[in-house]
Amino acid sequence: MSTRRQFLQTSLLLGAAGAAPGLLANAPAATGARVVSTWDFGVGANQAAWKVLAADGSALDAVEAGARWAESDLCNPTVGRCGNPDRDGVLTLDASIMNGDGRCGSVAALADIGHPISVARAVMEKTPHVMLVGEGAQQFAVQQGFPKQNLLTAEAERAWREWLKTEHYAPQINAERRGLPGDKNNHDTLGMLAIDANGQMAGACTTSGMAFKMHGRVGDSPIIGAGLYVDNEVGAATASGMGEEMIRNAASFLVVELMRQGLSPAEACREAIARVVRKRPEASRTLQVCFLALNRNGEVGAYALHRGFVYAVCDAKRQDALLDSDAVYTSTQA
Ligand code: ASP
Repeated sequence: MSTRRQFLQTSLLLGAAGAAPGLLANAPAATGARVVSTWDFGVGANQAAWKVLAADGSALDAVEAGARWAESDLCNPTVGRCGNPDRDGVLTLDASIMNGDGRCGSVAALADIGHPISVARAVMEKTPHVMLVGEGAQQFAVQQGFPKQNLLTAEAERAWREWLKTEHYAPQINAERRGLPGDKNNHDTLGMLAIDANGQMAGACTTSGMAFKMHGRVGDSPIIGAGLYVDNEVGAATASGMGEEMIRNAASFLVVELMRQGLSPAEACREAIARVVRKRPEASRTLQVCFLALNRNGEVGAYALHRGFVYAVCDAKRQDALLDSDAVYTSTQA
């Protein structure tokens, strides 16, 4: 174990996020563990996951804890209980969870249940299936003791009523968060990947999907291989952005398979983005697609179609790093 931990520590220092400034002086015990997440809200989610990893907990427990944190975040209109509804005014949530040994579970179009990630885990652990959708997913959740509650906030309802005035159905690029032009907060997902002190990996993905989507629309996040894929032998990948592009390209699986062929996480994400561009060059100018990957050595990489994708990295040295991803197009006017 100590040899493996030492190896992980060395490779973490060599990895992209090793360059992050402001290292914490009092590093917790779980050296070698690391958790990474999409977007700025990934920082808080990582910290919730880190509590589990620092106590030598499993990557699977860590990603569930991190995703639950994001699902409870009352400021986030794109994940969990504060999400924007679909175009009929119904808030439906998508989530998936995957362990490095291939076990996985997911829910799609789940209404009135606050923690879809935990329902996804229950699908994985308590049913012979991988995915439950809509009414069936809700029925299962209630049977498992998850409370049924109206999750639509007054603010989300206001945003929907505002949208109804034009009913303009056009997914936005969502490239420039952090107060820069183009920050529409239209759709974002928490994608989280973790490796624990024992070298086991897991991932979670949770979202309310595209704001004001068609009723019944399912994005990439609950689809294993599209929004999330994890394999202990290689590494893990997750995605955010226009889910239809991820589904078309089996994108998270693609990133993991590219790493299996020897590419680094950053190279694999870049190649997967290149594939999206090659397939749909025109669409790629107006849609955002972002990939985040973590390999079994703890190295991290990301790549996006458009500038503005940020990802959070958390390990024994630092719990609040937020890094900018490279991108194909560096301007929203691409
Ligand atoms: N990928 C999500 C979806 O298409 C949304 C996002 O991450 O922006 O549902």
